[in-house]
Amino acid sequence: MHVIVVGAGIIGLTTAWYLRRLVAGVTVIDPAPARGASHAAAGMLAPAAEVVWGQTSLYPLLRTAAEMHPEFAAEVAGAADAELGLTDTGTLVCAGDRADLQALRELRDAQTGAGFSTELITGTRARELEPSLSPSVAGAVRIPEDQSIDPRRVTSALLSVFASELISQHVSGLVREGGATVGVELADGRRMSADQVVLAAGSAANTIAGAPQLPVREVWGDVLRLRAPAERTPLLRGTVRGLVNGRSVYVVARPDGQLVLGASSREDGRSGTDAGAVHRLLSDGQRLVPGILDCEITEITTRARPGSPDDLPLVGRIDDGCVVSTGYFRHGILLAPLGGRVGAEIAIGRRPDWLPPGALDSVSPQRFETPADLPVLSTT
Ligand SMILES: Cc1cc2nc3c(=O)[nH]c(=O)nc-3n(C[C@H](O)[C@H](O)[C@H](O)COP(=O)(O)OP(=O)(O)OC[C@H]3O[C@@H](n4cnc5c(N)ncnc54)[C@H](O)[C@@H]3O)c2cc1C
Repeated sequence: MHVIVVGAGIIGLTTAWYLRRLVAGVTVIDPAPARGASHAAAGMLAPAAEVVWGQTSLYPLLRTAAEMHPEFAAEVAGAADAELGLTDTGTLVCAGDRADLQALRELRDAQTGAGFSTELITGTRARELEPSLSPSVAGAVRIPEDQSIDPRRVTSALLSVFASELISQHVSGLVREGGATVGVELADGRRMSADQVVLAAGSAANTIAGAPQLPVREVWGDVLRLRAPAERTPLLRGTVRGLVNGRSVYVVARPDGQLVLGASSREDGRSGTDAGAVHRLLSDGQRLVPGILDCEITEITTRARPGSPDDLPLVGRIDDGCVVSTGYFRHGILLAPLGGRVGAEIAIGRRPDWLPPGALDSVSPQRFETPADLPVLSTT
């Protein structure tokens, strides 16, 4: 079986990884490999810290994906002879002041309700764990099991594994015969046939001719990369997230000393960096970690997260020759091993029965549509 994967972001590359393990031949096509949302991502693998009220279908996916990461990362690191920056130093979700502490307590109730074990600690205890935290931090939720990874190292390792299967081209459309996808058309007019096509083009999934219109929304995010002065490195031991005047902010500490400060969230359609968002991130970040302002800004990146109406991914078959895998929103790095394996298994006709009950239906691309709008086919 030969499968074409459209898109070499974390999802397309992880799908290719699992396809190869399922003994399928793979070609990955992308004009700008790993330069989309995956290039911006902070790399938090933080299922509990990601809990938001009312997203009950998402939690089992996040939890299962987090469990898959250590083995997935070790195997990719081994295959590419690379270091992926996987850490398990945990997360502190901090309250900027006493009003934020009340919101944090409510968030912790949601985390507990979702079955995650977290600990509410005082500001003093939080500063014992992270001495760079501001004296004004009023309390924190400690999540010791949270991990993080460097998404750029993961995609670059996977790109090295698939170097000879990668075509740097734009896919302009799906080639369809008798209602089924049989290949893709490239921007230079060439056609390539395949037994299966996996559409993993992130927020650009709807720009490919012949693909059904998916309810994908672009949620833009601005994120900064910083480096602390040598005498203050490491500024942080693990990930610090927080609420400042009700706004979310995070600082992810990489093992190599880099800090990632993020992220804004806007659906204004503007692909350029938003000055106000950068100002707010620096201002809120320094409320939690004042040393941020002594750092050097090494990069500011703006990318669109591929969102869906209910914030769950869209993974499943859309015709006999095509599987879609997008809509990973703010969880694509965390969900990559799960989404990659599910997409690969569906493409080769295997049912991913290792998923938590109901999970496959919760990510079905047909869940928003009536059968007349989008063909509802078997998910295997
Ligand atoms: C600021 C920010 C911070 C984030 N932080 C985290 C985090 O801490 N943890 C987490 O889990 N997630 C995080 N995310 C979310 C995560 O980055 C995304 O969910 C994930 O990267 C989506 O991966 P993807 O492969 O679907 O999309 P992308 O990475 O966007 O990849 C899509 C690829 O498709 C290619 N493509 C598009 N059109 C075509 C075409 N016509 N032909 C061929 N190729 C095409 C593009 O060039 C691109 O390389 C963050 C996102 C942002 C923006």
